[in-house]
Amino acid sequence: MTKALHTQTPLFYAHELSSQLNKKIYFKMDCHQPTGSFKIRGVGKRCQEAVEEGYEHFVIASGGNAGLATAYAGWKMGIKTTVVVPETTQKFMRTKIAALGASVKVFGEAWNEANVFAKSLVKKEKAIYIPPFNHPTVWAGNASVIDECDRQMPPPDAVVVAVGGGGYFCGVIEGMLRNNWKNTAVITAETDGAASMKKALEEQQFIGLDKIDSIASSLGAKRVAEQAFEYAINKEVVAYSVSDGQALDACRLFLNETGNLVEPACGAALAAVYHNLDVIQHLDSILVLVCGGSGLSLEQFNTYLKQYS
Ligand SMILES: *Cc1c(COP(=O)(O)O)cnc(C)c1O
Repeated sequence: MTKALHTQTPLFYAHELSSQLNKKIYFKMDCHQPTGSFKIRGVGKRCQEAVEEGYEHFVIASGGNAGLATAYAGWKMGIKTTVVVPETTQKFMRTKIAALGASVKVFGEAWNEANVFAKSLVKKEKAIYIPPFNHPTVWAGNASVIDECDRQMPPPDAVVVAVGGGGYFCGVIEGMLRNNWKNTAVITAETDGAASMKKALEEQQFIGLDKIDSIASSLGAKRVAEQAFEYAINKEVVAYSVSDGQALDACRLFLNETGNLVEPACGAALAAVYHNLDVIQHLDSILVLVCGGSGLSLEQFNTYLKQYS
């Protein structure tokens, strides 16, 4: 087996917060992965598999962390990589992706259009479309986060995981299964304007949102993957959402406590503990998966803080 592209990230015990809440709070620091988010776990595994299958060119539509992770995989393995981003993707991220040697193509006003264009590029032989969240290999790769936690701590009462399309979440469920974390609950985090998992669970139906309205752009999937919905229904997962302002404030408190800047998408998960939400009241030990994210500059963060305070 080839060596994985992700690294083992540290597990931090949050001393300040734990004593404030009189609970045990653990942070799994996936913000310390290369490219700053968990994405390299699953996307990286899929990229490696694609190379084993004989592909010679990665194509992805993403102006976010999935695009960055794919570019990193391409750089590591010496594989040509094309990242299609919509016009809304800021220069900050375009530059990061391009710095890894990927070709950045700007297409369309929104992700959907960029995605159609990306799919048209893979018609050529030996090019492969890399899925950001909806693929079994991506889930299997993301599951490594729980393998690591299992070596780093006893199973907690609950895991908090942010959900966009649900690729991280599916990995968490699979990782818990294979590590025999039978008594650990799963709590999913979203922002109010991107709460596709919460809506589907409330309606008990595989449905999505009409539109996304949140600064947590990494959570912006209108509908979760079908597998994510199935797992969530069967595991009796608890889903919550917070306002963009609450997510931002959790980012701020986390930065003050640990010195790490993460995206509002990740702030949604951190909000469970930093805002002591109802969903954690009855629990003693809580593991928050710090999914991270490289899409937020300090300048943008400051602008948001002014807007939302
Ligand atoms: C991709 C991403 C998410 C959401 O992950 P899904 O697998 O789409 O559910 C959350 N946070 C960050 C920082 C991300 O990059």
